[in-house]
Amino acid sequence: MKREYKLDQVRNIGIIAHIDAGKTTTTERILFYTGKKHKIGEVHEGEAEMDWMKEEKEHGVTITAAATTCFWTPADYKTCQINIIDTPGHIDFTAEVQRSLRVLDGGVLIFDGVSGVESQSETVFHQAEKFAVPLVAYINKLDRLGADFYETLKQIRERLHPRSFPIQLPIGKESSFKGIIDLFERKAKIYKDELGKEIKEEEVPAEYKEEVEKYRHELVEAIVEHNDNLMPQYLEGKEISVKDLREGLRQAVIKAQIIPVLVGSSLKNKGVQPLLDAVCYFLPSPLDKEAIEGFVADEKTTRKPEDSESFSALVFKIATDPYVGRLSYLRVYSGKISAGSYVFNPITSKKERISRILRMHSNHREEIEEVATGDIAAVIGLKNTTTGDTLCDESAPIILEKIIFPEPVVSVAVESKNKIDQEKLGLALSRLTSEDPTFKVKTDQETGQTIISGMGEFQLNIIIERLFNEFKLEVKKGAPQVAYKETITQEVESEGKYIHQSGGRGQYGHCWLKLKPLERGKNFEFIDKIKSGAIPQEFVPAIKKGVIEALTEGPLAGYPIVDMEVTVFDGSYHEVDSSEAAFKIAAARAIREGSSRAKPVLLEPIMKIEVVVPEKQLGEVIGDLNSRRAQIEGTRVRGQMRVIDAQVPLATMFNYITNLRSITEGRGSFTMEFSKYEKVPNNITEQIVTPKA
Ligand code: GDP
Repeated sequence: MKREYKLDQVRNIGIIAHIDAGKTTTTERILFYTGKKHKIGEVHEGEAEMDWMKEEKEHGVTITAAATTCFWTPADYKTCQINIIDTPGHIDFTAEVQRSLRVLDGGVLIFDGVSGVESQSETVFHQAEKFAVPLVAYINKLDRLGADFYETLKQIRERLHPRSFPIQLPIGKESSFKGIIDLFERKAKIYKDELGKEIKEEEVPAEYKEEVEKYRHELVEAIVEHNDNLMPQYLEGKEISVKDLREGLRQAVIKAQIIPVLVGSSLKNKGVQPLLDAVCYFLPSPLDKEAIEGFVADEKTTRKPEDSESFSALVFKIATDPYVGRLSYLRVYSGKISAGSYVFNPITSKKERISRILRMHSNHREEIEEVATGDIAAVIGLKNTTTGDTLCDESAPIILEKIIFPEPVVSVAVESKNKIDQEKLGLALSRLTSEDPTFKVKTDQETGQTIISGMGEFQLNIIIERLFNEFKLEVKKGAPQVAYKETITQEVESEGKYIHQSGGRGQYGHCWLKLKPLERGKNFEFIDKIKSGAIPQEFVPAIKKGVIEALTEGPLAGYPIVDMEVTVFDGSYHEVDSSEAAFKIAAARAIREGSSRAKPVLLEPIMKIEVVVPEKQLGEVIGDLNSRRAQIEGTRVRGQMRVIDAQVPLATMFNYITNLRSITEGRGSFTMEFSKYEKVPNNITEQIVTPKA
């Protein structure tokens, strides 16, 4: 199969918004107008297409990053294939938000015309800025009481990007909002029917003429300022054609110099088609992006966005589909791949077969033979590939994203309400772990409880709701716990024995271990220095096993021991009575005894946070962070806001958002990601260790 559309006709976009601004409704309308969906379904009726999973609707947030394809042909322009990549909105999902921002080329930022720029819009805007994602802004809900286009525009300029320019103006306000003026064409477009399909083009109403000229002038000036080709024409006072202006704006948007601002009411079906036009006119195609960077061994390398390059793609989402099973969503950065062929995963060094390739439309899946550069598709057949992995040609390996998923830092105990469901719970949880590399499950050895852990409280709550909705499992959960660890601070030698030789076949295991502290983050090393057969080689693996098992429970409070080097250097054995089991037990004993003498300390997860606040409250927010044992690393200016960079213990950050919002009148926002483990101060260690002892 040949490529249906040329690369310059492809748009990979995300719709990014504060919760409730209308992302779902707008997406749904886009799918309606692009013709792939036949009935308008509203969120509260549970028919919106992008929200695949029920609990997303209950939360009003979209968590998965599924991708949906549609097609649109604006007036005087080529048909575009638009791949809409669903971006999650909540901060617990930072890794996922960032990954989805990485695979898309441009974004539509949606605002609620009543509430204006909300704190989370700032967070996502700053993330988009960090990844250099070009944006168009869409001020939605202009039909609502209290909606104010001009105020929202002012806020966008003040709080996000001063060079945001309307390319449209709304006609009428609130319930009398009835159409849109296109500033390029100086035309009014009045929506005549409820479905927004009948649009009448009219002259700009007299009372808007002055306004239109003012905003058009600003817009044209902004465009030519960034454009050496158009500038001379403008200076000579010549009229620049609409087509040239659009092309000029496109160049400026792609370089993130200008954000075009559009207006509408998705619910009332006004403004969505021009928004689609703008996606095609102004947002980049994969060709407009620079060659993607990756690594071969540790050397940087790049791949150009061309079908003739060797194949490379990034898997950005794994989903379990009720019909076809495991779906891996990928974005192809170079080359192409066809169904039935093999790809190489450089992370696992394994070849995997892609059995089928699907293009996901809103209401059906289309089986395609091939997926090429710049495109996004879901593939079936990958068994050992997880989110964030690269797939490539075996003869031309490349790793596009080196991501090390952090170990989970929060955990809660869960238990099925109904005892007989316990086994079902295990199966359901193991399926959910395969979708999300930051989510883990284990069983507490002592209590037999099932412990789920992840990167944030919100993520774990979502898992619990999915258990209920998808697996019909009701669970009870405990309070969230920080994942502490333990380590030693002193070198010791320790002897471990397991000797029972009274009657019959005995047991004989005996070893000497040296325990040595390692640098933070080095985790664990095992060294074999047995001298001249003190212990036969065949028992060394058993000793290592015993050590690893004993490391799962530290001497202070039962947390796993990390950052320790263990050397086995001596011991003894018995010709008949020695066994692997005996050496395993002996080694575990040596670890337990030795680590408690080696001045053990508690380690806690430290998070790297970025807090964005208005200047007015900078001092107060820093004061509050200090009381949470934060280390402030510095502050920066970002637009109208101040950014605080800090390192702070996770234990003090539960529910931080509530606090931050109340200090900043709702304007502050933050992102948090795991940074490192560090020693817990002594006074705090006492509080954690004592109750357990
Ligand atoms: P999301 O959380 O960003 O996905 O937002 P939704 O699309 O779920 O919309 C949140 C609520 O706002 C829903 O009740 C929608 O019906 C409503 N809504 C969305 N767009 C509009 C609009 O243009 N006008 C009005 N009045 N309500 C809207």
